[in-house]
Amino acid sequence: MKLKSLVINGFKSFADKTQIDFQAGMTAVVGPNGSGKSNIIEAIRWVLGEQSAKSLRSGKMPDVIFAGSSERKALNRAAVEITFSNLDRYLPINEDEVVITRRIYRNGDSEFLLNGKNVRLKDITDLMLDTGLGKESFSIISQGRVESIFNSKAEDRRTILEEVAGVLKYKKEKQKAQQE
Ligand code: ATP
Ligand code: MG
Repeated sequence: MKLKSLVINGFKSFADKTQIDFQAGMTAVVGPNGSGKSNIIEAIRWVLGEQSAKSLRSGKMPDVIFAGSSERKALNRAAVEITFSNLDRYLPINEDEVVITRRIYRNGDSEFLLNGKNVRLKDITDLMLDTGLGKESFSIISQGRVESIFNSKAEDRRTILEEVAGVLKYKKEKQKAQQE
């Protein structure tokens, strides 16, 4: 499984549709302060199901939509599309490519698509929980997170390990079954 491309359209500072194609090896994003580097990472977290607007440095979720600038009026929709190569069938979907799309509108309506078909948020989070790409995983470490991991309580650190080990998914299902 490999990250192939990311298309950001109307999300945060990306008013224009912007496509990033990831080549083999390492990718570094460089740019001056405030140029949108962190917004790219936030676009990835968002399309993979991030539910906390605050952790995306936004008040409420529709605030991730381009808010306008002196030359440009605000947009009404944000969309992010991420494409993974799935030639190794790492994701349990029988397709060579897996494309996840998330859209949100000013009124708060939002949608997820998996290879072009409408799905629920849960379908995306379930798909990602076992990959090490889930939102509580180590694969995305934001500014300040390193320190917070080391200062966190033992139980919180355990949650990180459980996700890496692929146990968290079953624990969440057990919790849900117990509540019902
Ligand atoms: P640094 O090097 O300081 O970490 P960065 O390259 O990571 O900077 P970001 O934090 O990604 O920069 O981008 C911040 C910019 O994104 C700010 O100029 C901010 O105004 C803009 N921005 C954030 N949300 C929106 C939005 N909804 N609409 C328009 N612009 C936005
Ligand atoms: Mg930054």
